Amino acid sequence: MDRQQIFLSLVIPVFNEEQTLPLLFARIDSALAGPLRDMGTIEVVLVDDGSADRSWELIGARCRQDARCTGVRLSRNFGQQAALTAGLEAARGEAVVSLDADLQDPPEVIPEMVAMYRKGYDVVYGTRRSRGTEPWLKRVTAAGFYTLMERISGVRIARATGDFRLMSRRALTHLASLRETHRFLRGLVPWIGLAQTRVLYDRGDRIAGTTHFPLHKMMMLAFDGIASMSVAPLRLAFLMSVLLFAICVGYIGVTVVKFFVFGVPMVPGWTSLMATVTIFGTIQLVLLGIFGEYIGRIYEQVKQRPIYLVSEVISGGKGDEAPTGTRGDPPARG
Ligand code: UDP
Ligand code: MG
Repeated sequence: MDRQQIFLSLVIPVFNEEQTLPLLFARIDSALAGPLRDMGTIEVVLVDDGSADRSWELIGARCRQDARCTGVRLSRNFGQQAALTAGLEAARGEAVVSLDADLQDPPEVIPEMVAMYRKGYDVVYGTRRSRGTEPWLKRVTAAGFYTLMERISGVRIARATGDFRLMSRRALTHLASLRETHRFLRGLVPWIGLAQTRVLYDRGDRIAGTTHFPLHKMMMLAFDGIASMSVAPLRLAFLMSVLLFAICVGYIGVTVVKFFVFGVPMVPGWTSLMATVTIFGTIQLVLLGIFGEYIGRIYEQVKQRPIYLVSEVISGGKGDEAPTGTRGDPPARG
């Protein structure tokens, strides 16, 4: 395949970014006029993930006057992973780069990614050399989480990598065949395999506005990641039962020996009884909770709902054209 002149799509999920969008457009313009010039054809797909502010207005205005831009508006907020999926499925390029609207992923790194793509790689991760001034809690939890994920899922997850990555059309087709409702693209993309590599960059701070991922949302994403890549938490029940069975047998043994060998009278201890009851009760509740999480996910998956719904598309200066992938349905197989 000739990879010299490329048709590249940039996919950007946008949620309440009215403050950052003007800066984003300016930066994209200067990248298109500078480092991205002469690379080939470039399209920009902006997905509005149900913003409540003026984001869609700004995207619409931009896309109406710029033929390279496509705006996709989801019918409500579906979450970043779904918005990203919508963008990847609306993109028409032979390769697609996804990046955040807040410019934490600098467009200037894209030529390096494309160079790797031209060498034949199907997935190129943008890997952070540094993380700007993100709080230490985010760094520590992220590091711990990815180690845990790798251990229990067996899939090697590219470190220090957000959703800034280039994917070839082939990789996108494979990714599009994975229709899970609780998506964790950072785990799904390594899972599809193919030739993957990375380029290093310095991650800046958000240029404006504030993060949409406070700690509790990060934790939800993290559990989605674990639950979508691994059933290890379900095995906890079995492991704990083995452990507790051993402890019980040991305890009964000790009691019997105490009574028959040493003649210690059997006075039922209230403390040990209560301790046992509460420990067992707690463990059972925790495990029931884990089972519940998985059953909930199975329930949501069997409903086969689309991953996202599109309400409006503005494409290259035109209004609502017949959009592709508007429902996040499984792609037709031929
Ligand atoms: N985003 C989205 N839907 C959401 C939350 C976030 O499309 O429900 C977008 C957001 O506009 C940004 C990207 O996802 O382009 C990453 O979000 P953010 O920068 O807030 O996350 P952080 O970099 O702090 O992890
Ligand atoms: Mg960000």
